[in-house]
Amino acid sequence: MPRFADRHIGPDADAVATMLDVIGVESLSELAEKALPAGILDALTTEGLAPGLDDLPAPATEEQALAELRERAESNTVAVSMIGQGYFDTLTPAVLRRNILENPAWYTAYTPYQPEISQGRLEALLNFQTMVEDLTGLEVANASMLDEATAAAEAMTLMQRAVKRSVNRLAVDSDVYPQTAAVIETRAKPLGIEVVTTDLRNGLPEGDFFGVIVQSPGASGCVTDWSGLIEQAHERGALVAVGADLLAMTLLTPPGDIGADVAFGTTQRFGVPMGFGGPHAGYLAVHTKHARQLPGRLVGVSVDADGSPAYRLALQTREQHIRRDKATSNICTAQVLLAVMAAMYASYHGSDGLTAIAHRVHGHALGIATGLETAGVEVVHDAFFDTVLARVPGRGEQVRAAAKERGINVWLVDADHVSVSCDEATTALHVEHVLEAFGATRGGQHWRGPAVHTRSSEFLTHPAFTRYRTETEMMRYLRSLSDKDIALDRSMIPLGSCTMKLNAAAEMEPITWPEFARQHPFAPASDTPGLRSMIAELETWLTKLTGYDSVSLQPNAGSQGEYAGLLAIQAYHLSRGDEQRNICLIPSSAHGTNAASAALAGMRVVVVACRENGDVDLDDLRAKIAEHADAIAALMITYPSTHGVFEQDVEAICAAVHDVGGQVYVDGANLNALVGLARPGKFGGDVSHLNLHKTFCIPHGGGGPGVGPVAVRSHLTPFLPGHPLAGELSDTYTVSAAPYGSASILPITWMYIRMMGAPGLRAATLTAIASANYVARRLDEYYPVLYTGEKGMVAHECILDLRGITKNTGVTVDDVAKRLADYGFHAPTMSFPVAGTLMVEPTESESLNEVNAFCEAMIAIRAEIDQVGSGTWPVDDNPLRGAPHTAESLLVEEWTHPYTRQQAAYPLGKAYRAKVWPPVRRIDSAYGDRNLVCSCPPVEAFA
Ligand SMILES: *Cc1c(COP(=O)(O)O)cnc(C)c1O
Repeated sequence: MPRFADRHIGPDADAVATMLDVIGVESLSELAEKALPAGILDALTTEGLAPGLDDLPAPATEEQALAELRERAESNTVAVSMIGQGYFDTLTPAVLRRNILENPAWYTAYTPYQPEISQGRLEALLNFQTMVEDLTGLEVANASMLDEATAAAEAMTLMQRAVKRSVNRLAVDSDVYPQTAAVIETRAKPLGIEVVTTDLRNGLPEGDFFGVIVQSPGASGCVTDWSGLIEQAHERGALVAVGADLLAMTLLTPPGDIGADVAFGTTQRFGVPMGFGGPHAGYLAVHTKHARQLPGRLVGVSVDADGSPAYRLALQTREQHIRRDKATSNICTAQVLLAVMAAMYASYHGSDGLTAIAHRVHGHALGIATGLETAGVEVVHDAFFDTVLARVPGRGEQVRAAAKERGINVWLVDADHVSVSCDEATTALHVEHVLEAFGATRGGQHWRGPAVHTRSSEFLTHPAFTRYRTETEMMRYLRSLSDKDIALDRSMIPLGSCTMKLNAAAEMEPITWPEFARQHPFAPASDTPGLRSMIAELETWLTKLTGYDSVSLQPNAGSQGEYAGLLAIQAYHLSRGDEQRNICLIPSSAHGTNAASAALAGMRVVVVACRENGDVDLDDLRAKIAEHADAIAALMITYPSTHGVFEQDVEAICAAVHDVGGQVYVDGANLNALVGLARPGKFGGDVSHLNLHKTFCIPHGGGGPGVGPVAVRSHLTPFLPGHPLAGELSDTYTVSAAPYGSASILPITWMYIRMMGAPGLRAATLTAIASANYVARRLDEYYPVLYTGEKGMVAHECILDLRGITKNTGVTVDDVAKRLADYGFHAPTMSFPVAGTLMVEPTESESLNEVNAFCEAMIAIRAEIDQVGSGTWPVDDNPLRGAPHTAESLLVEEWTHPYTRQQAAYPLGKAYRAKVWPPVRRIDSAYGDRNLVCSCPPVEAFA
């Protein structure tokens, strides 16, 4: 049996030799020497390994690695979790676990930038939005936020944008979750927002506020009628955001029904395991009038070329990739896979099913409260949903320990208070054991407090939530949706800058093990030694691979890693009394998140120009450095660049910034071109974020989850993120709700590194570079490659320039991207980072056969373009402009186009590759933005 690396890496030795031949080099090392600047390339040790990587363990097989991880899992304790605080145990329906979470058709897809071949997940996300809208009583919800705490922070900035008054004060209720308060505090500070935290049940304090944030139910379990506060806030010109628990919202009056402007929260308890903190889909919902202020992804309904309804991402111009430092938010990768899970959980249970679960959960809480009160234990709040707060003067620790003896984790609020949260997994026996821990037994039948079932509005009435209530129907619905999409299980996805590599089944297996999945992020450390040792090991490996000294796994996307890294830089400057350092230099080619993150960190963005060859313009950089000198906080540079090239001058660029006391942020999203060859922590970076969902095999999930660890050199270590509820972390600032972010998917990266080992990782990088250079060589004569390094090589991706072609023939990048779907391929990255171009990244996982098939498609498309250019086909009626072609569009009585139906659907014949039938034709995006619809359309629309 060959090594895992041979199964992860597509091209074998013969295939690599073929590629090297076309590239015109003798060996992979010669290729590396020609592509990378000599100064940064790591010299190999005597064992032939990259320095720093030599102490990584030797590669393990799938079975060995799984057995090692299994051992760690078994040292964890899966306790009954009644901790609450924003994380609740849930019973994931097996049909959803198997058909979504464990199904590559769902988890290997990318963000739906090519909507014509993403209709399945777009429909699922529209269901998610509709679910959130219905349960919160608001009109527009996005899909999705990274977690509840960051959703609260986004609610804050959204309200400040929306009030359109220059006020900088925000009122926050003291009963929001501690992690929510911490992230709000972190985000507020650099933006100059003053947070006033107080008990808002007494009304709004004196003074002017732009916004108010409360939670329903509160962290203490208290259910409060916030309608009076909302009225008061509105009278004073402030907006109100309510953190709403969606299960509770089946019973309580939802925020929209009492006039709230914004709702935020998490959908975790809708079938997504706690996973030691994540990933889960957070949500954010608003009234229609604030729709354009919503951050992140928003799915909307539009029409295709034949007038049929079709889904696509709406209002893209708000986003960081267009608006950069003026964007509504830096969010890019969201939590799509988990949003799909939550939406399908709601479909499977329906309105009555969810309500029944809520009644059961509430019933258990009532059982605990009555039992406690009968035994003379004080229950603090009269009105609660699932969480009972008990006052036990001086006995808190004793109660906690007694519950632990019975296998139950409760939440020790302080020495005198314990709170107990019920959830879908709570049983009558758990209730009895909890009561025993308090020295109580089941008590009276009726609770003296008010009934909390006050909701009168209907919800989840759309057929999406009534049709799929049996397992057969749900299984087929999920299959029919995923059949509409191109994910990695059907084709290579050559999206430049996204690194769509293999997500191996053995890497995915551990994430659903209950020892990892069913852990509360605030469980006692003694429950999770296995998880903690896996995390510590992964942190060590990542520091070795990057040449940095320490790493934080807290950020749950690349954008969040950028933000954390910039905060660390800022804190470092402040610690040295350099308060004036506020400028962030960013090359014009940078990813939009860079500028958006700098703006969020309160920095001023100064753009550095690029030269004709795509490299950073050193003269402009030097001029900007001279101009701003001691005001420079940082330079953010992506390496290799977003132009897909290893810039020669990277060391000089870093040095120039260091010379004036600035810090260098190396955006590590392109680390797939560096692992085992060069280390950013050694060639000039002070801090980098990595994208584990690019380089390190965490699947993209259709647009999330992600993990964006931030790695730093030792002088920045004290400024890494901390967490209010994780004693082992510092008390600096907090960027995610959970201490270790999306901890439950870290086993994927652990498995990858463990199975590849140092030699496998280096081979992967070299093969990725070889494959990109091979594509560049093969396609250059058809589509000129825009940028190469000094010796004619690209890095791990290449930009194909179509601007000349478009000018000469009228055929656009859009036409080529959509036409690729007819050939059965997902398009490359379109118009990023250069408008009018396609960026191709094949990755090491694609076999030479697949890469060749892609090249053949591109070459055949070029021949089609030439037929347009020569006038054989008119610009507005040819297979490119007509793409993609649905089966329906071809099965017509009268065919009126100048190309044949065979040319449309089988341009390279039937033997070429498996046919993909796009479910819709070219989608009109502008129409959808003009007629914004962001919830499930009535079924008649599809008639
Ligand atoms: C993907 C990417 C990011 C953003 O990462 P997310 O996880 O989507 O937030 C930032 N910079 C570059 C260069 C990237 O390619």
